[in-house]
Amino acid sequence: MTTGNTKHDQELMKKINKELVLHLIREKGPISRAELARVSNMSSTSIGRIVSEFIELGFVKETEEKTSGVGRKAVLLDINPASVYVISLELDQNATKIGLVDFNGNINLSQKVNYDPRANHYESVLKLICNSVEEFLSGHNIDKSKIIGIGIAVPGIIDAQKGTVIFSPQLGWENVDIVKYFEEKLRLKTTIDNVIKSRALAENVHGSTKGSKRTALINFGTGVGSALIVEEEIYRGATNSAGEIGHTTVDPHGRLCECGRIGCLQTYITEEALLQEAKIYKNISNVNEIFVSADSGEKWATRLLDRVYTYMGIAVCNVICMYNPDTVILSGKLIDKRPKIIDIIAKKVDELIWDPFKNTYNVKGSNLGESAGILGVSTSVINKYIDIEM
Ligand SMILES: [Zn+2]
Repeated sequence: MTTGNTKHDQELMKKINKELVLHLIREKGPISRAELARVSNMSSTSIGRIVSEFIELGFVKETEEKTSGVGRKAVLLDINPASVYVISLELDQNATKIGLVDFNGNINLSQKVNYDPRANHYESVLKLICNSVEEFLSGHNIDKSKIIGIGIAVPGIIDAQKGTVIFSPQLGWENVDIVKYFEEKLRLKTTIDNVIKSRALAENVHGSTKGSKRTALINFGTGVGSALIVEEEIYRGATNSAGEIGHTTVDPHGRLCECGRIGCLQTYITEEALLQEAKIYKNISNVNEIFVSADSGEKWATRLLDRVYTYMGIAVCNVICMYNPDTVILSGKLIDKRPKIIDIIAKKVDELIWDPFKNTYNVKGSNLGESAGILGVSTSVINKYIDIEM
């Protein structure tokens, strides 16, 4: 091994140790230096050095003193949530959510801006969003010097490296250089990611699957998508498109999909698909009316919904067979409208799943709800920032 390599290895080791210490303070804080040394198996000298660096950077603060056994007082360490902030955005079909997220992943402030991205040119939409962010910052007297960056969660195919939206049917965008626009206009480092990947990350770091080694999230909404988190990292695939299960073919003789192909999974599951089909039988205007009809015992509605739940169950089984996750989270507008769907789908999955996978997974709902997208993309921004600072 050359000297260069050894130096590189040492630097890497230092970085891994720092990440571990920060992670432990996040998970176990308030915690003493002695306890940190014990849990991490590191020397008290190393812990002391790393902690001092964190305190200097503002990430960590010394908190209350706890009386220990012999009457001596031990200083405890905790994350300093107010050290830095992220402005997070989630772009959807009808509204953009804006949130101020602190270093600990708490949403301190949030606001919704209504817009119609499909009816306007993308540049005027981006201008509107940037202006809203500026108003959000000034309206709440937010100190811009404490903002480490902007995170944007977008539905569709995203090139997170280049910072472009490659294709978003929900927004009607193709090849939009969103990061470049934001960085020029707002002068803040900007990160984008797919909204479902962001939600899955948030659930894994802050939500209902904290501690899960392998979380899959399946979203049933205007489309059908999924994401996988392995050991707290987003699984991206070769072109960041892993998880686009909505366009897996389930029936080659089936329905025409918005993607131009025949028989995609989402042609059986989305709200739009449900509505189209229900209208064959009854003049209804929204999905809630299908639920109401089913509740009042109208057979057409129970049959239609049962078939949808079966397709949802199949989608979950396929994801389980592909990725072998320990937890599957179901989210999206259809689930939000009818949370009891989760139990129905879980039952379908238990019936349909291949035997070797039985009892290897949990199917559950999100406990972050609408905040998940904003939280997830802020986690990515904070992780990037820590990576650079360390
Ligand atoms: Zn399709």
